[in-house]
Amino acid sequence: MEESKKIVITGGAGFIGSHLCERLLAAGHEVICVDNFYTGRKANIAHLLDHPRFDVVRHDITEPLVLQADEVYNLACPASPGHYQADPIHTMKTSVLGSINLLGLARRTGAKSLLASTSEVYGDPLVHPQPESYWGHVNPCGVRSCYDEGKRSAEALYFDYHRQHGIPIKVVRIFNTYGPRMRPDDGRVVSNFIVQALMDEPLTIYGDGQQTRSFCYVDDLVDGLMKMMASPDEVLGPINLGNPGEFTMLELAEAVKRLTNSRSRIVHEPLPQDDPKRRQPDITRARAVLGWQPVVQLEQGLLRTIAYFEAQLSRGAVQLVAA
Ligand code: NAD
Ligand code: UDP
Repeated sequence: MEESKKIVITGGAGFIGSHLCERLLAAGHEVICVDNFYTGRKANIAHLLDHPRFDVVRHDITEPLVLQADEVYNLACPASPGHYQADPIHTMKTSVLGSINLLGLARRTGAKSLLASTSEVYGDPLVHPQPESYWGHVNPCGVRSCYDEGKRSAEALYFDYHRQHGIPIKVVRIFNTYGPRMRPDDGRVVSNFIVQALMDEPLTIYGDGQQTRSFCYVDDLVDGLMKMMASPDEVLGPINLGNPGEFTMLELAEAVKRLTNSRSRIVHEPLPQDDPKRRQPDITRARAVLGWQPVVQLEQGLLRTIAYFEAQLSRGAVQLVAA
């Protein structure tokens, strides 16, 4: 087994973060989950609380934090448009002040620091699929900019701390990821459609449903994050992590309806402002540099996610807030 490290995961009680906590504990590491529980939930990490190598710190990363660490995964940031737009100033502070605080921690401790950036840095892309060399097409003053420009600023900070202070950094750009432990009220499309279908409520397609996304199952994504952290020091990124399979929202709605045997209707609602029309990762770099590519097909991943929400529903843990 690899040498045990002290690893901080900010946003560790969130959807992706909780899976990462599990995987790093299973690999023999000491894990400190730092979260302000804005969108994260104690239920996501409840099964880890008694683990001797697991700790939780309730903390908002916009405030400085003093911890020892060998590695820091910075996942703290609401990822769903509804949640990041609810307090856009705090979203921007989380990316900017949060990154400065974590890079300060890295400077003090020598920790290696990974930033969970996003495909949103490409905005509504004019290049398709999106390679890392594309600089993007982002509205700097729209309703999504607190998230998009926040993450772009975070990327700039990670690279400047590396150039100015020699901090070891890793930057990944995550494309739409889904799986168990998404919140039923998260507002993102996969959880919305599944919860709606299971409750025989209408599936809400925003706009005409011809916009596309590429969906990566969470286990694949976590593999990619860990491979990136373990990559040689000179691999800084940015590296796209996502599943290149591209689907329209109409196709996704039909797939969810079919896999849940749902009687739900499909209804159309207004398209949110600045909603990207197409999105698909070019993962040539991840394949070549990390030897990584996703292995879980959409249908397989949807079935696992549906099983999770079914179990939540049967425990009465889901109320329909999405529609
Ligand atoms: P999530 O909302 O489930 O998790 C985010 C976590 O960060 C939550 O636990 C939340 O409470 C915590 N958090 C938010 N602000 C914080 C703050 N100021 N201080 C401390 N904790 C804070 O979302 P997720 O899907 O798990 O996303 C995790 C990361 O991956 C985010 O940084 C997101 O931007 C990035 N990402 C996710 C996706 C995706 O499709 N899931 C795509 C691109 C990028
Ligand atoms: N979407 C939809 N119905 C929903 C939620 C989202 O049609 O109930 C659409 C949304 O407009 C976008 C796509 O699905 O085009 C993905 O939305 P999500 O919020 O999951 O992620 P993002 O837009 O950040 O990629």
